[in-house]
Amino acid sequence: MTPEEQAREAEENRSLPRAAVTPAKVRVLLTEGKGLEIDWQDGHRSAWTFAWLRDACPCATCVDERLQQGRKPGQPKPKAAELLPMYKPPAKPASAHPVGRYALQFNWLDGHSSGIYSWEYLRRNCSCPECAFHSSPAPGTPN
Ligand SMILES: [Zn+2]
Repeated sequence: MTPEEQAREAEENRSLPRAAVTPAKVRVLLTEGKGLEIDWQDGHRSAWTFAWLRDACPCATCVDERLQQGRKPGQPKPKAAELLPMYKPPAKPASAHPVGRYALQFNWLDGHSSGIYSWEYLRRNCSCPECAFHSSPAPGTPN
């Protein structure tokens, strides 16, 4: 395990305060096609686009695929350059619904729906500038 991986693991195992992973307000901007916004009880606000969420699907199949391709959650698949560019509509869910009190599930228009997005997963992958700064790779590492 590289030091970078160790640091990442330590970060992942660091438990977040309850208020940081408890949403005060959840907005799924379905009609606007924009994405998901969460106001957390600790006052932090997170927002993700649907495209990001689709590419961050936490189901086993998608996680495996990302590991194989070396992609981070939310990072789009590399485009196959040799193929004719085909129009691909941006990912959008047909619906979203809560799973218990701890997660959100999307029914994507492409038929995929096995990903359970826990509040903790979402908070850990908050893409606001402040959080992105803390989770950014070491200087010199290509992003
Ligand atoms: Zn998936």
